[in-house]
Amino acid sequence: MSVIDLDLDRVKGFLPEEEGMRLYDLAREASRLGPCLEIGSYCGKSAVYIATGCRENGSVLFSIDHHRGSEEHQPGEEYHDRELFDPETGLMDSFKAFRKTISEAGLEESVVPIVAKSEVVARCWKTPLGMVFIDGGHSLDAAMADYTSWASKVLPGGFLAIHDIFPDPAEGGQAPYTIYKLALKSGLYEELPMVSTLGVLRRVNPKGP
Ligand code: SAH
Ligand code: MG
Repeated sequence: MSVIDLDLDRVKGFLPEEEGMRLYDLAREASRLGPCLEIGSYCGKSAVYIATGCRENGSVLFSIDHHRGSEEHQPGEEYHDRELFDPETGLMDSFKAFRKTISEAGLEESVVPIVAKSEVVARCWKTPLGMVFIDGGHSLDAAMADYTSWASKVLPGGFLAIHDIFPDPAEGGQAPYTIYKLALKSGLYEELPMVSTLGVLRRVNPKGP
């Protein structure tokens, strides 16, 4: 039986099981250092994996999303889902689906939803983090904002995980890969093996060898 208490095939989202289980393993280790945080909650798929790992250490996942969708989720775009469109406001709204997923997974004590723009939250954020998982907007501006806002909050020994890494431009957008390369170039992270499109970096201790 899986450690995950929910059939995630029924949850809308963009995270294959193999990548999710890697996030779960990382969260089990990272949440011993500090809480975890993700940018891009959507309907809760990645949150379930990460928070299940956090729960094992009595820690939590802060899950940030304005729930208005990225560029590709808007009406007429490739990943638009009509069921997540609110005709009353004329906007996307994935928050209701997110709450349902977290509740059904029994993870309400392990997930702190933050309904806001990532960069607004980052401006006042002081708590050092065991893991930051970046899976928000895929424009270069959005990815750069997430990187510059959050990478510095990862504790030594903790992880910076970035989703949708496509080294070959023919396979997908380059913004996540661009920030992945920037992080590597900073010399503050060591590269761990990728799992499909999930890039994983470990923050090295600036004082230690
Ligand atoms: N991790 C999810 C998928 C996330 S999709 C899963 O496992 O399925 C990307 C999400 O990022 C969208 O829901 C979108 O609303 C959110 N997003 C995009 N830009 C954002 C920003 N600047 N601040 C907060 N959320 C953002
Ligand atoms: Mg993604």
